[in-house]
Amino acid sequence: MKDKISAPLQPYPPITLSPNSTIGILGAGQLGKMLAEAATKLGFKTHVYAPDEDPIAASAATHFTHASYDDLAKLQAFANSVDVITLEFENVPTAPLKTLTTPIYPGIEILEISQHRVKEKTLANSLGIKTAPFRAVHNQEELNQAIKAIGSGILKTCTMGYDGKGQWKNPVEIPAPGDYIYEGFIDFTTEISVIVARNTRGEIECFEPVENVHKNHILHTTTAPANISDDVRNKAIVIATTLAQSLNVVGLLAVEMFVTAPPFIPPASGEEIGGEILVNEIAPRPHNSGHWTLDGCSVSQFEQAIRAVTGLPLIKPERTASKVVMTNLIGDDVLKPHTGHVHIYGKKEIRPGRKMGHVTFLVASR
Ligand code: AMP
Repeated sequence: MKDKISAPLQPYPPITLSPNSTIGILGAGQLGKMLAEAATKLGFKTHVYAPDEDPIAASAATHFTHASYDDLAKLQAFANSVDVITLEFENVPTAPLKTLTTPIYPGIEILEISQHRVKEKTLANSLGIKTAPFRAVHNQEELNQAIKAIGSGILKTCTMGYDGKGQWKNPVEIPAPGDYIYEGFIDFTTEISVIVARNTRGEIECFEPVENVHKNHILHTTTAPANISDDVRNKAIVIATTLAQSLNVVGLLAVEMFVTAPPFIPPASGEEIGGEILVNEIAPRPHNSGHWTLDGCSVSQFEQAIRAVTGLPLIKPERTASKVVMTNLIGDDVLKPHTGHVHIYGKKEIRPGRKMGHVTFLVASR
């Protein structure tokens, strides 16, 4: 990997917030709810801000503001009422945030990069971190050229895509002119993710790589630890840490990666040369693949996030069972009986494909 680029330092002093300070949270879904719960446990008050009318995080927060992300007056009043702002959702418009002086973590720069698939892959490559081959595509001619250069692949919208929405495998025609990325199709053996936490003083702790299985483009199961070699594990941690440091993240950075089959085994040594690791996506917030930490780790990703943005010391993440498995409860799954550690988010409307909760199993305690 190349030397880390030096990112501008966060423009805020690395203060430690005292108990009873207020943490502002942008976004009010399940991630915001679990962030607010973690903040409450650590003795903080919370103020959640979201455009949703009756969001699930509101009940877990001390205050709730219902307003759009570009309502400058409401945003300013929210900022005035809190000591620090963090978020559960990276697709918040950044221009209004730039008008605020309250510290905003994980940082505006990382938000702008993670909102755009071409920007995030370009940044990774600039740090010597591999990704799928890709090209920016805006029209049919550019799509044709990308297919010719890369071969089989996936067309994705650059912004606002999630859970497989805005994606077309082996497209022939562009759906409409716009801002797309065409990525080579990766024949991976394993999908993994690493969540790294970095506090206001630059201290870092990494959750171990976990293995993710998707069904219908939606995360189905996360298993800790990932079934990967020590070499891949260590490299994945270095990649996540490098990205968090280079982007000067304060809070959490989740890095999703593909691990490909080992390219070859040299006959002389007989030793496997580790699979390639390709970064697929980064998310500067708590991540679904970190939910296992609520029940199976010395610290949850939500507590670690709150510690990071309030300047508290981070906790060393240590798994508390030999294996931890988290399964999402999607749509009707929520109505079935479940054992294990059950978390239901409280969303009123059950919809197919909607994440309604999750359940975690600890396998054989250490
Ligand atoms: P994304 O929205 O980029 O996170 O993609 C959702 C899922 O689609 C990933 O978790 C993978 O399972 C699959 N996927 C995305 N990009 C690729 C790719 N370039 N090659 C193979 N599978 C992919």
